[in-house]
Amino acid sequence: MPLYDAIIVGAGVAGMAAASALAKQGLRIAIIDRGAPDVLKPGECLMADALKIMKRLGLSEDFIAANHRSLQAYHVNWGQQSSYQRHLLTSPAGAGWIVNRQHFDGMLLKHCQQQQVEMFWQNSLQAIARDASGYWQLQLKHPEKLCLSARFVLDASGRARAFTRHLGINSQRLDKMVATSCHIHSVSELSAATATIASDYQGWWYYAKYSDTRGCLCYFSDGDLPLPDGPKTLLAQANKQSLLAPLLADARPMTSTFKRSAAYSSALQNCIGENWLALGDAAASFDPLSSYGMTSALSGAFYASQALKRYFNNQPQYLQTYQQLMQKNFLAYLDKRYQQYEQVAGYNSLFWQRRQQGALA
Ligand SMILES: Cc1cc2nc3c(=O)[nH]c(=O)nc-3n(C[C@H](O)[C@H](O)[C@H](O)COP(=O)(O)OP(=O)(O)OC[C@H]3O[C@@H](n4cnc5c(N)ncnc54)[C@H](O)[C@@H]3O)c2cc1C
Repeated sequence: MPLYDAIIVGAGVAGMAAASALAKQGLRIAIIDRGAPDVLKPGECLMADALKIMKRLGLSEDFIAANHRSLQAYHVNWGQQSSYQRHLLTSPAGAGWIVNRQHFDGMLLKHCQQQQVEMFWQNSLQAIARDASGYWQLQLKHPEKLCLSARFVLDASGRARAFTRHLGINSQRLDKMVATSCHIHSVSELSAATATIASDYQGWWYYAKYSDTRGCLCYFSDGDLPLPDGPKTLLAQANKQSLLAPLLADARPMTSTFKRSAAYSSALQNCIGENWLALGDAAASFDPLSSYGMTSALSGAFYASQALKRYFNNQPQYLQTYQQLMQKNFLAYLDKRYQQYEQVAGYNSLFWQRRQQGALA
């Protein structure tokens, strides 16, 4: 049975960034993922702060070279106020990016391959156990039964929390938010360098164009409220929004990309334990309104790799420091989330009532 220093469950932003950082330290790393490498993941808007973290992870040169589109402003229609532009260029951190996820995830994969990270695609985590020496044994499902062994496990499996769920670690969920999304074919450049956000009676909309011909359209609401049931309905409902309609005039939905994904905010009770830690959405997940999920996944990868380096050098207390940092970030986020939703007035609907009361929905 192959023995690794660490196995990472999940090849998203958090898992791949952590894998290449750990492998650069000379550790033997494997990643398992239930999906294929070319699955298009959600999340395009990346804040400027992320570049500092990518520098520390050794990713910034390739990131800059990929020429992702600049994100200079959000065009916002929030509640019954008139619409406005929130400029990022004048903010302390500066402009961000609207990333092409295919290229971004491809860059992370390239770094893993260069560092000889072993990738097990289309292998879902099925069972976990520990042997007499305390090593983790991970049983994988598809295509053949395979068992991998490691000194340490990192759960980077997103909201699925595939590893910590097996351990019975609880996660506190703050709401029931669900994203209904579809990639769009459009050559219109009316929304160049901006992302659009517009509130609606039972949720809110997001649109960003990440290449000359493609953009991503999303509607966010709660899972128990009415949701668009297909790409045509999604586009038709978006076209009722005064900010979105002109941008989508030539839009054609790429129907095979239509999907629903969980988008709720949550935090794991503990994101460290005996020979394991969690990072990215598996540790704490954020409302996409914050555009913070990918930055958090990258910074989680950096701090987890630093904590693990010290842990393997007999300084286990650094895992506690990692946990404290994750908890502090989540508390700061909660304040901002509440402030954003508090600004919206004029809708007498469950979605907005739940958020404005700050109550657990
Ligand atoms: C619609 C939407 C829009 C968003 N927009 C933005 C945005 O504009 N900006 C931003 O910063 N953030 C955004 N986010 C959040 C952002 O996408 C996430 O925070 C970020 O991608 C999390 O990365 P991750 O690596 O932690 O998890 P994920 O990207 O979820 O990766 C987890 C991986 O684990 C794998 N996995 C799951 N279960 C198992 C299992 N049992 N066995 C093996 N593998 C498993 C999955 O296949 C997946 O590849 C958005 C989220 C949504 C839903």
